[in-house]
Amino acid sequence: MEIFNRKSKNILLPLNLEKGYDYLLPIHISDLQEGSLVQVPLRNKKEFGIVLSAAVDNLPEKKMKEVERVFDKLPTFSKQFLDFISWVSNYTVSKIGNVFKMSIPVKEVFEEAKQERFYGFAKSGIPQGFRMTNSRRSVIDLFETEGEGLYYTISELSQKTGASTQVVKEMEKAGCFDIKFEDIKPEIQNISYDKEFTLNESQDSAVKFICEEAKNGFSPILLDGVTGSGKTEVYFKVIDEILSKNSENQTLIMLPEISLTGQFLKKFNKRFGCKPVLWHSSLTPSQRKKNWLAIAGGEAKVVVGTRSALFLPFHKLSLIIVDEEHDGSFKQEENVVYHGRDMAVVRAKFESIPIVLASATPSLETIANVQTGKFKEVKLHSRFGKAIMPDISLCDLRSDKPIKEEWGNSYLSPSSIKKIEDKLRRNEQIMLFLNRRGYAPLAICKDCGHKEKCPNCDVHLTAHGKENPMLKCHHCGYFSRIRNVCSECEAKDSFTLYGIGIERLAEEVANRYPTKKVAILSSDTLNTTKKLYETIEEIEKGNIDIIIGTQIFAKGHHFPNLTLVIVVDGDMGLTGADIRAGEKTFALLSQVSGRAGRGEKSGEVVIQTFQPENKVMQALLKNDREEFLNLEVSERKLLSMPPFGRLAAVILTSKDQGALDVFANQLAREIPRSSDSKYMILGPVDAPIAFIKGNHRKRFLIKTEKRLNIQQLIINWTSSLKIPNSIKLKIDIDPHNFM
Ligand code: ADP
Ligand code: ZN
Repeated sequence: MEIFNRKSKNILLPLNLEKGYDYLLPIHISDLQEGSLVQVPLRNKKEFGIVLSAAVDNLPEKKMKEVERVFDKLPTFSKQFLDFISWVSNYTVSKIGNVFKMSIPVKEVFEEAKQERFYGFAKSGIPQGFRMTNSRRSVIDLFETEGEGLYYTISELSQKTGASTQVVKEMEKAGCFDIKFEDIKPEIQNISYDKEFTLNESQDSAVKFICEEAKNGFSPILLDGVTGSGKTEVYFKVIDEILSKNSENQTLIMLPEISLTGQFLKKFNKRFGCKPVLWHSSLTPSQRKKNWLAIAGGEAKVVVGTRSALFLPFHKLSLIIVDEEHDGSFKQEENVVYHGRDMAVVRAKFESIPIVLASATPSLETIANVQTGKFKEVKLHSRFGKAIMPDISLCDLRSDKPIKEEWGNSYLSPSSIKKIEDKLRRNEQIMLFLNRRGYAPLAICKDCGHKEKCPNCDVHLTAHGKENPMLKCHHCGYFSRIRNVCSECEAKDSFTLYGIGIERLAEEVANRYPTKKVAILSSDTLNTTKKLYETIEEIEKGNIDIIIGTQIFAKGHHFPNLTLVIVVDGDMGLTGADIRAGEKTFALLSQVSGRAGRGEKSGEVVIQTFQPENKVMQALLKNDREEFLNLEVSERKLLSMPPFGRLAAVILTSKDQGALDVFANQLAREIPRSSDSKYMILGPVDAPIAFIKGNHRKRFLIKTEKRLNIQQLIINWTSSLKIPNSIKLKIDIDPHNFM
């Protein structure tokens, strides 16, 4: 018998695919909702997928394979969310299968849920001859007081009664229980905001403003407040308000990678009386599974995560917070290249919900969106409580020169040293900020000037350690011992270490202040979360006098007794081809400065620089963010740079330099002519680091008017040629990294 009219669906798989494939529904299923999760055959494998729409390819039934399984216990993705996935795929020019993959990055969710044993009171009552003990009695009491029809897991029983699991097992043997098996369900996250906690007046009105705006559905709001002004407390309260509107509501707090610290989690716990549900790259697969199910099922109420959390299928997302919205680590550079902050705004738009961007140094993009009225803005002008903003001064290294001591070169100016010693006498904490890992950035041959380079990358090797140093590449992980013989001039033992990294700074501190306790904070010393927490606790307890840190330490932390910050090399980061160099340096140094004087004692910041007249230094000195940003905005406007024009990069990489050159030149010849100068395509040029991790790289830069469809332009241009297998082509819309 022939079967007519069996339904077929277009199903998207989480693979490197441009579009979904059509599959036939099993005969017993008459229809399937869009967004349902299913299992389908692909070649000889089983894959999971999601129903996107009705079938699109008009294939005859015989040509289609059949859906093998429907995961009806898993949540269905909403229409808004599927639209978001497809929008991101178009915007970033990434294959939609790769974007979908980000929403289920854990295959384990498709495994059958494990069942758990539940213990109820035996229907026949306590067995005859049962010997009663105190702990056995307490278990029976529980059923008698809470109700005989209830069931508990073994851990619940032991938690509630104090009886050991051993006791429960003995009672089970004796026949005290009725046992049943059920699926494990994620627990509802039990949020209860601390009613005792009160906000100050400006925080209170910020909360009111945001909640009022939030009534409009999609409403992006910049929460702009100096470091320590209490922004976190403001958005915590907003979360409380949103959650109490509807018991199904969920919220997402997005943080940059390194802000996910114990301090933040403690603060959260204090205000909400529970832990947030976490989402970041170092969760174990079983934590991922558990958290994914709770997020998709709606049991998770507040999720704290890094950028990847944005692609999770929330059951009812009702508010997004992006903290430190200016932070560069929201940009993902691999696979699907996207900016987490920008995509968060898009997601909020698709979901018609409010989004709060919080920062003490908002990005220029966000400032421009406020200026054009796209975003609303609310400000906190001063630090919370008695804390005041630190006093910032510049130290001109041309006149206030560090003096060489008998133990070696110094990198601290005489005036900085005087300030340090003054604070040490008063038992206050000091932080020396230098954003460079290792001992020295260069190993140079004294005889011929040869500098040691990475064999895989076009960069110099950084020396780690002083005696018999290890030379490391910070891009690819290559390392080697320093050579005895120079590869260029064959001089013996001729290498010397040049420049300063935080290890050398630590050496200077040890020479100057041998009795003081020092903590070195960099990704080399704090390579585990545990170490980071421990070090932070030591600082909190006052067991550390001097903190030497890289940017790992620039943000988020709050140490009331830290009253002096010295920025050892303020000029770092001001050079280079990056249009955001000034903005980034300003933000980083403001954040670092924000570590000083957060308690009752006032703070001081000294920035050592060779160019005190530079606009970034002047803006920091005058604490005049507005003027600096206005200057930057008008400069970008003049040059039609983002956010006033659009940028994209096309990056070609290959192990084969010859093939790369040939293809880059071919692609250059295909550049479409622009008669009305609405766009420019520049290149190919060698990337600033032209050789990295064993790959050669060439870049094109595409610059267009704001309203031009830059994606279509790039697709039309790059699809005119077939890309050889040896070459990888990456498209980066709105690039932030020009290396
Ligand atoms: P920001 O996020 O703007 O840097 P925080 O929210 O971390 O600032 O607040 C800075 C410090 O002030 C924190 O220790 C915080 O607990 C405290 N604080 C902020 N608001 C209040 C408040 N209303 N009552 C008591 N302490 C507060
Ligand atoms: Zn390298």
